[in-house]
Amino acid sequence: MRAAQVREARLRWPVPVDLEARLAGCTVLAVERRGKYLLFDVGSGTLIVHLGMSGTLRWFSQAPPLIAHDHVDIVTDRGTLRYNDPRRFGAMLWHDASGGPISAHSLLASLGIEPFDARFDGAWLYRASRGRRVAVKQWLLAGHCVVGVGNIYASESLFRAGIRPTVAAARLSLARCDRLAQAIRVTLAEAIERGGSSLRDFVGSDGSGGYFQLDCAVYGRAGEPCRVCAAPVRLIRQQQRATYFCASCQPR
Ligand SMILES: [Zn+2]
Repeated sequence: MRAAQVREARLRWPVPVDLEARLAGCTVLAVERRGKYLLFDVGSGTLIVHLGMSGTLRWFSQAPPLIAHDHVDIVTDRGTLRYNDPRRFGAMLWHDASGGPISAHSLLASLGIEPFDARFDGAWLYRASRGRRVAVKQWLLAGHCVVGVGNIYASESLFRAGIRPTVAAARLSLARCDRLAQAIRVTLAEAIERGGSSLRDFVGSDGSGGYFQLDCAVYGRAGEPCRVCAAPVRLIRQQQRATYFCASCQPR
């Protein structure tokens, strides 16, 4: 990397004042993702990027003129990686290699496993949910057991598994945990296949538009007929987040 240019440091957390100096002259050795965090390993440390609600990282072999909300540029010999974020809920942080492995970073250490990790199955959900009296939907959203199950996918997965979102996580049997793990994987795989669900102004790294809540079974369909049983889809709030479910397909 030739340079980093920080034009706006007020993201969710302040962009470190020494980020430009940290990255200058570095080579990106690996790019990984953990939960919603993108991790750029440059040897001396790791650049941690989170896109927040509205952030985008776009690659330009020749950077075009700046537009509104272009907050950070990472300039390399081959082009520019540009971070744009109208709402500024994203993050750009530095983890120095001297601080230990990146997996121990405070933002990453409490993350659950990835849903496509081979270890993720019903038994994993069952073990992790013992003693958790919180509603299963909130428990999934917290991400301490498994990451990647956001608000839309939590409603969709629980519908697919036939589990009421308000049931206490600890009350799930192993058989129901098996169904839920399977439902989470199928729901996420389908969403990835379709390009994801996102804000209307989503832009992919190649500049393509996103898809908005395509073909959800229950999410966003309050009052509309369930596609399985035709009962009206219900909407409730759990910790200020909208939860959609079918009372007859998800009786408990
Ligand atoms: Zn139904």
